[in-house]
Amino acid sequence: MNLILLGPPGAGKGTQARRLEDTRGLVQLSTGDMLRAMVAEGGPLGQQAKEIMAAGKLMPDELMVEIIGERISKPDVANGFILDGFPRTVAQAESLDAMLADKGLKLHHVIEMRVVDEVLVERVTGRYTCAKCGKGYHDLFEKPKVEGVCDSCGGTEFKRRADDNAETVTTRLSQYHQQTAPILPYYQDHGVLKAVDGMADIDEVTRQIEAILA
Ligand code: AMP
Repeated sequence: MNLILLGPPGAGKGTQARRLEDTRGLVQLSTGDMLRAMVAEGGPLGQQAKEIMAAGKLMPDELMVEIIGERISKPDVANGFILDGFPRTVAQAESLDAMLADKGLKLHHVIEMRVVDEVLVERVTGRYTCAKCGKGYHDLFEKPKVEGVCDSCGGTEFKRRADDNAETVTTRLSQYHQQTAPILPYYQDHGVLKAVDGMADIDEVTRQIEAILA
């Protein structure tokens, strides 16, 4: 099964994608994670990505299509994938359709995760992850049981994304409304769009997604 999780920053796409990886054996394809890996590697493209991400702007469509095209050609994707953070523009959605058609692949569901903007700023600015295992936490809503120690792996180092600050989040949200939201009618017209209540608690959102996939 091939899915897209679509929603603004902080909607919970990454959290739900990781759950679907565990429960359904799908591969999470996060373009944000791919770009952060490029930034960590350094090099001119990494530097460009670093600057654009820090500003909360979008990377050029052609580059993103190339990155995802390469990733989608790897054999592990054949068992099914969850796109998280791609497509982000109608042009990317159109290129994705062409790419999938070319490979004989089909998009089964596009799931919109609906959350109002006011909640997103608070969610995004408070979130952080365990540096060792990647488990997600939040300053207000989900602290480790023992302060400074990861519940899952016992790790004691945590990290925050450089772009998860109030100023950048505001730009990322406006980019979402201007550039990404127009994808919704595109997929509506293709008959694959479904929505879940991203304001519900994490387990309830998972239940709503599972009901769509059932
Ligand atoms: P994310 O981890 O999905 O929130 O993405 C973090 C940042 O990476 C975004 O704010 C963009 O700057 C960049 N990015 C990720 N995916 C894309 C994409 N599909 N198109 C353009 N820029 C992207």
